This record gives sequence, C-alpha cells and structure tokens, in this order.
Amino acid sequence: MFGLIGHSTSFKDARRKAMELGYDHIAEGDLDVWCTAPPQLVEYVKVNSATGKTIEGAYIDSCFVPEMLSRFKTARRKVLNAMELAQKKGINITALGGFTSIIFENFNLLQNKQVRNTTLDWERFTTGNTHTAWVICRQLEKNAPLVGIDLKKAKVAVVGATGDIGSAVCRWLSQRTGVAELLLVARQQKPLQELQSELNGGSICSLEEALPSADAVIWVASMPKTLEIDSSKLKNPCLMIDGGYPKNLDEKFSGEGIHVLKGGIVEFFKDIGWSMMELAEMERPQREMFACFAEAMLLEFEECHTNFSWGRNNITLEKMDFIGKASVKHGFSAVGLKTQIQAAVV
Ligand code: NDP
Repeated sequence: MFGLIGHSTSFKDARRKAMELGYDHIAEGDLDVWCTAPPQLVEYVKVNSATGKTIEGAYIDSCFVPEMLSRFKTARRKVLNAMELAQKKGINITALGGFTSIIFENFNLLQNKQVRNTTLDWERFTTGNTHTAWVICRQLEKNAPLVGIDLKKAKVAVVGATGDIGSAVCRWLSQRTGVAELLLVARQQKPLQELQSELNGGSICSLEEALPSADAVIWVASMPKTLEIDSSKLKNPCLMIDGGYPKNLDEKFSGEGIHVLKGGIVEFFKDIGWSMMELAEMERPQREMFACFAEAMLLEFEECHTNFSWGRNNITLEKMDFIGKASVKHGFSAVGLKTQIQAAVV
C-alpha cells in the first residue's frame, strides 16, 4: 500500500474541509485546538495503472496548516505523528507532501526516530523529490517550444539551484537537455560555487541579474510573499515554471508573452475516484496531483519499497531515468500549458 501525507492550504480551508468530512468537534476549534489535533487517515483509494496493475493507498491529513509554521514544536509533532500513523497502518511507502517534507528537512527530524513506542523506519518514506525534479524538466522541454523558445539557444535560470530539487534539475538540464546557458540563483555563495564546479558550467547570478536575461525560469524555492518583480523587465517570450510551494507565481507575473506553468504537477490518464486532491486545490482533482505524491504510487506500482528520495542533493540522473520511465509506463503525464488552458475553458 502507498500513502500520502498532506495538509490544507490554510486554516480557514482546513476548518471548512473538516466540517465537510464530519469532524465537527475539530472544525469548530481555534488554532490552539488544531495544534493538538491528531492526524487523520481520511481516505483509502484503489488506483489502476495504464498497465492494468491495481494498487491500494491511503491519504493522511497531518492536521498541520501553514499558520503553524512559526510554532516549531507543533510543526515537528504534526509531521512525526502523521508518519507514525502511516507506519502503524502498515503502509509500505509514503510521500511527504507540501510543507511536511520541508519541515522534516529544515527541522532535522532525522534525529527523531522514536515517536512514543514506534521506531520510525525511514525506508517507508520518500520526499518524492526525484519525480518532482524529472517532471519539472519535462515541463520545460515540452512547453518551451510551444511558446517559441529554442532550449538549445536559451538561457534558463534555476531559482533555488542548490536545493534538492534545484540541483537535480540543473544536472538534468546541463547533461540531458543541453540548454545554451544555465543561470544559477540562490542566496548562499559557497553551495553555488560547489554546484558550478560539479556541473562544470553555469553562471552564478543574483535574481535581479537573472530575470531580465532568462528565456525560461524554473522556481524551486519558496519565495517570500513580499517579493516584488517588475514583469516589464522580463523577456518576451518568457516561460516561468512555478515549482515552489505554495504555487503563487501567477499572482506576481502577467503580461504579453509571459507564460506561467504550475510546476511539479502530473495528470493521471483517467479519473481516480478520490476526494483528497480537492484538499490540495488541483484544477482537475480527479486526475491531477503533486509529482511527489505520484512518486509514492510509482514506487508501489514498481514494488520498490525504499526511501527512493531521501536526504539532500542525492538525486542522480539514473534515479530520474528510473522514475521518469515508471511515470510514463503507469499513465502519468506532466501538466503543460495546453492542459491548463483547456482546464480553464472547460
Ligand atoms: P531545498 O530547501 O532543498 O532548497 C531550497 C533552495 O532555494 C535552495 O537552493 C535555497 O538556497 C534556495 N532559496 C531559498 N530561499 C531563496 C530566496 N529567497 N532566493 C533565492 N533562493 C532561495 O528545497 P527543495 O528542493 O526540497 O524544494 C524546493 C521547493 O519545491 C520548495 O518550495 C518545495 O515546497 C517545493 N516542492 C514542490 C513540490 C511539487 O510541487 N510537486 C514537491 C516537493 C517540493 P539558499 O538558502 O542558499 O538561498
């Protein structure tokens, strides 16, 4: 069985969803009540691959909401409790979705293997970042030509280049796609220099330097809400792939020739018959999901029960090849500009 650990996008949303699901006692509580609420296994689902194989899965709502991010102990407890529940339910491989993988890494939860009487078995969990990185690269490769960008002549900026997903994207774009120039953007200089030497190329830039010269920009960093960007300084055409969480770039960029694509989202070849992606506010919740969630499904389909994506900067091209091949085989495709336009019309 595969598992997905997720959360609502806001406290307001979480209360509304809890009411709909019949958890009235929690729904009516204030944020302090929610801080003590245990994780809930809200749904079981069966998924049929394009190959005909059927697997079973479960969605666990961690009862975390982004308003709790500043409460370190609460955020930590929410993620560990949800992982404990997944393990107790006997789930083979569970993806940490949304902020839960960020909390796991940034709060160094590897040190917290013991949750009450359960010893967490890391082999049962994956961040899903390998599939996310592969999907983002495919989104660039497929959609750049659609808006008139020739990647062989293009400058591609990766914002968050030194991160787990960003570094994998840079490896792929320099070795597989072969873009004309990679612009590497992050705040700390030392990891940028290490990445540049690993890639044997790429230019280290500030965000202000990169944006006006980039034909395509891949965002794989959670950017501050206060970030102000002058869209008039961007190239025309310019393809923006919003791979961060939450996905809010379309609020910041608009204008002639600027194309914003939701990054790291995949579409399954048929309706799944679940309600869990309505919680994640997907445009087509019966088919669309975060690529990190889909990674848990793919590992279950492939009977690859291991923490496939784990730790930082361990994503190899071989792992991306494996998960990419499985993704296509079982019926997933990366969401593209065309799909987004169609969804808006329907
Ligand atoms: P990491 O923490 O490994 O990397 C974050 C990167 O962003 C680092 O390079 C960091 O470098 C950089 N960064 C952070 N803040 C800024 C800033 N203000 N300006 C420029 N660079 C910045 O994160 P991951 O690679 O695991 O995840 C990246 C993003 O992708 C996250 O937002 C995550 O939520 C999202 N994600 C999306 C998924 C999906 O949509 N399917 C699935 C999984 C993750 P430095 O600190 O030096 O600036």
